[in-house]
Amino acid sequence: EEWKDRGAAVALRKEVDAEGRTIIKSVKKGVRDFSFGRILGEGSYSTVYLATDRQTLREYAVKVLEKKHIIKEKKIKYVNIEKNTLNRLTDHPGIVRLYYTFQDETSLYYVLDLCNGGELLGVLKKTGTFDVECTRFYGAQILDAIAYMHSRGVIHRDLKPENVLLDDQMHVKITDFGTAKLIPAPGEEGSGQGGSHDDERNASFVGTAEYVSPELLTDKSAGKPSDLWAFGCIIYQLLVGRPPFKGATEYLTFQKIVNLEYEFPAGFPPAARDLVERCLVLDPARRLTVEHIRNHEFFDGQQFGKELWRMKAPRLR
Ligand code: ATP
Repeated sequence: EEWKDRGAAVALRKEVDAEGRTIIKSVKKGVRDFSFGRILGEGSYSTVYLATDRQTLREYAVKVLEKKHIIKEKKIKYVNIEKNTLNRLTDHPGIVRLYYTFQDETSLYYVLDLCNGGELLGVLKKTGTFDVECTRFYGAQILDAIAYMHSRGVIHRDLKPENVLLDDQMHVKITDFGTAKLIPAPGEEGSGQGGSHDDERNASFVGTAEYVSPELLTDKSAGKPSDLWAFGCIIYQLLVGRPPFKGATEYLTFQKIVNLEYEFPAGFPPAARDLVERCLVLDPARRLTVEHIRNHEFFDGQQFGKELWRMKAPRLR
């Protein structure tokens, strides 16, 4: 009963019939429709496989979650949040798309966009730091994806370079919506898991220490500005090679965050410094919004929207 989508997932496909009429066909997909290949990665509750749709030969990443393990670890809520959230975010190139979900006796399956380029964190570790051009490009793609998820009523709450995957074009695809929060999208009343009740249930700390916003630590509240705090941390990290707030323990990291205790190394680009300083503002109401950030001088001349996703990724430096 806990898993709402018993049976195979249904995909709707638009086709034109022999008389030239548009028809909608429903196509059921199940485990047997995919051939499973190598393991792409493992999480605490999941294994991600490369898989090929036998019919179309299209490759996907399939995340497999073992039901027993999820129940034992009390993660049912997170698994459902991830699915519900991804189902709201199906129309942006910067977000890992969920194509189908299905299940069998033992496991749940999420068929996702394949991200061959790995995690942004891995790429950053290889190069050490990014130059301004790369930081601007990846920053712009991350910001564009944040703008889209916020417009769809989704707050990610755990943005960090590990959750930014890269596809074969080395373009951004944000993942890991298991700790996201749904707020009613404009024109949509009180649906989903939004509302104050959700805040209470999620009052315990869920994100990653280094990127968590001060308001989550002090008021146990997280909204759109919390994602832009994390965005500021990511911009800093791309240019410096490490996040701005990092203590020996989680507690010490939290202390640094609530005291806004961080420094810019010598040579940090001035426009980027101004941007980071205006994102890393303790009061969420006084932090830059997505719109402000797009118009900040650090992004002068930068394309956003459709054009940004047609751009060739800069060579990593
Ligand atoms: P945890 O649950 O412990 O926080 P996680 O969130 O990274 O870990 P998953 O999202 O299941 O767990 O991902 C496990 C690994 O699989 C990741 O480290 C990532 O490298 C890889 N992976 C996840 N999604 C994809 C994808 N769409 N394409 C390619 N690789 C992926």
